[in-house]
Amino acid sequence: MSEEVKPESVSLYSVSAAATPEQEAVCIFGTGDLGRSLGQRLLQSGYRLVYGSRRPHSCGPIPPGAQVMSHEIAARSASLVFVCVHREHYDFLETLAPHLKGKVLVDVSNNLKKNMYPEANAEFLQRLIPGAHVVKAFNTLSAWALQNGPSDANRQVYLCGNSLEAKQAVAEIATKLGFNVQDRGSLSAARELEDFPLQLFPEWRLPMRLTIGLTAFFFFYLLIRDVIFAYVNQGKDNSFRIMVSLANKVFPIVSLILLSLCYLPGVIAAFLQLYRGTKYKRFPDWLDRWMLCRKQLGLIALALASLHVLYTLIIPIRYYVRFRLAANTISQIKENKTSVFDTTMGWRTDSYYSMGILGFGLYLLLGIASLPSVSNALSWREFSFIQSKLGYLTLFFCTFHTYLYGWDKFLFISSFKWYTPPGYMLCLVVPSVVLLLKLLLLLPCVDKSLTRIRQGWERTDPEDDSKKSLLAKDCQKL
Ligand code: NAP
Repeated sequence: MSEEVKPESVSLYSVSAAATPEQEAVCIFGTGDLGRSLGQRLLQSGYRLVYGSRRPHSCGPIPPGAQVMSHEIAARSASLVFVCVHREHYDFLETLAPHLKGKVLVDVSNNLKKNMYPEANAEFLQRLIPGAHVVKAFNTLSAWALQNGPSDANRQVYLCGNSLEAKQAVAEIATKLGFNVQDRGSLSAARELEDFPLQLFPEWRLPMRLTIGLTAFFFFYLLIRDVIFAYVNQGKDNSFRIMVSLANKVFPIVSLILLSLCYLPGVIAAFLQLYRGTKYKRFPDWLDRWMLCRKQLGLIALALASLHVLYTLIIPIRYYVRFRLAANTISQIKENKTSVFDTTMGWRTDSYYSMGILGFGLYLLLGIASLPSVSNALSWREFSFIQSKLGYLTLFFCTFHTYLYGWDKFLFISSFKWYTPPGYMLCLVVPSVVLLLKLLLLLPCVDKSLTRIRQGWERTDPEDDSKKSLLAKDCQKL
């Protein structure tokens, strides 16, 4: 068996694997949930199946057509053994070491949490049975997924191992079972594969924390300004506003900030590249992490913008709004007064709504384009046109929508209750900064330098150059 260490993912599907399965024997240790589901699939794919069990005569139900034997006899009847037993019970395998020599052992185990043991389960198994060829595989699939056949989310079988032939044997089985195989390299990758099923939306964590933090901050900020202020200063109970008015302020505020946070790291990265004069230096870790969660930030921003749209649509049917309208009309009738149509107000509200609608329309387009089925159908240029150019346009429309909402209220001292600016003014800070910085980057001289850097050009440091030439002279003298 040849030793092989290849970190990149390679499809191990071979043409021979597509052929009709022969009655090849495969062994499974353990008649538990995974052992049973895997066994059923193996039988359906035409394999002869032998179970190795502690209690061959009294084990639980097994798929019809399979045989159950002691571990020792079962191990002898096949060259490939799936170990469907929890790692804590691996000790019994040590006694079987002579019977497992030269065989392929497939470790399917997972742990309850990360770093539970000093070494990966598969490496532990390899240490217990040094004569066997251990392959880590199938651990990212659930017994349920195996029973029901591969669905889109469960099409991959990741595997790793030190022997290419052993991996090839496991890959052929996985392919016959209908899975796509991804080779993750040598057995040292087993820890990474064992951590896969423990991950819970890792790329959503930072965006969710940010969303919760911003939502909580703006909720309390607006509660103080809109409800507590009115109660303290005018003795008015505005608490009913929490349900719709406050929510309809918090959601768009957080949405706009999150949308601008999608574009801020790109702008920071561009300025960093300009400052360094090269694209070949790594970005700081925090910037890398930030850039990696832009899609999630954008999707949350879209969800909040959609809520804002829904809350806005119900404004005309709100009791509070209908009451105010009726009261206003009645008072005009009583006073025999008619208010004059204000064209400026007409322009203001129409432009405000129009910008909001355009912004939301583009928001939806960005969200749709980020769906894998859509983005996979786009070329890189098309994708970056939508996410970058149209993305900035979305940010512009939404920011302009908020400026129009504020109109001249920015100048009124009465807007600053308890010396605090309204929420929409606060939320304009980040998007305005992002748009301003982007505008700077679009200046022809800046854009030209950035494009050159992104095409691989590097600014040489004159100090470095003089050092290099001195070094060259020294070398020549020697
Ligand atoms: P399970 O239902 O508890 O079955 C484990 C089997 O191991 C038992 O049925 C038993 O079979 C055998 N066993 C129990 N104690 C033993 C001992 N002291 N010595 C020897 N054999 C013993 O567990 P499972 O859900 O099938 O999981 C099996 C392995 O697959 C685990 O490592 C798990 O992490 C991994 N896995 C499970 C799933 C899943 O969806 N269930 C998904 C991915 C990976 P006998 O009575 O026949 O000996």
